[in-house]
Amino acid sequence: MYIVLFGAPGAGKGTQASYVAQQMNLVHIATGDLFRQAIEQGTELGMQAKSDMEKGLLGPNELTIKMVMERMAVPDCETGVVFDGFPRNLGQAETLDEALEKQGKAVDNAVYIKVAEEELLKRLTGRWVCRKCQQPYHETESPPKIQGKCDKCGGELYQRPDDNIETIKNRLGVYFKETAPLIDYYTKAGKLVEVDGVGGIDEVGRRIIEGLRK
Ligand code: ADP
Ligand code: ZN
Repeated sequence: MYIVLFGAPGAGKGTQASYVAQQMNLVHIATGDLFRQAIEQGTELGMQAKSDMEKGLLGPNELTIKMVMERMAVPDCETGVVFDGFPRNLGQAETLDEALEKQGKAVDNAVYIKVAEEELLKRLTGRWVCRKCQQPYHETESPPKIQGKCDKCGGELYQRPDDNIETIKNRLGVYFKETAPLIDYYTKAGKLVEVDGVGGIDEVGRRIIEGLRK
């Protein structure tokens, strides 16, 4: 099974992708995490990605696709993948379709997690993420049991440098312009599953699993 999870920044893609991957025994590939890893490692790709990410812009398509393809070549992906934050524009969506087709595979469903803009802003400005396992928290909506520490792995929590109000506004603009057209793309392909992203983590997770079963 190959599932795409998409939605605006702050829609809960990361949280839900890790939930769905666990429930359905799929590999979770998050391009935002791949970008952050590349930046930390100081690779050539990382240097290019860093300035884009700081501005809230998308990284270059070629490099994004290269990272995804490298990760997909690892044998654990054979049984299926949940893509989180990829594809993020029509070019990436077409490339993914072509790459899977070559292997006799296809995207089964694309889950669109729908959240109103006002709610997105609230979520992103209070977000804390685990440095080790990337689990997100929110300072008022879903705080960790111990302040500054990840419930799951004990890792240190930090605020992403691109979670500041200026960058957040840019990211939302990029989302509406570049990523929102995927709603149409996957609707036409008969693959869209639209899910209301407002509610508890388990509640939204159940909606997604239910939507995928239909
Ligand atoms: P969010 O969805 O909250 O913005 P992500 O962690 O998914 O967070 O992405 C963070 C940043 O990483 C993006 O703003 C962008 O710069 C880069 N990025 C992630 N995925 C892609 C992608 N598929 N194509 C291009 N850039 C990407
Ligand atoms: Zn953690």
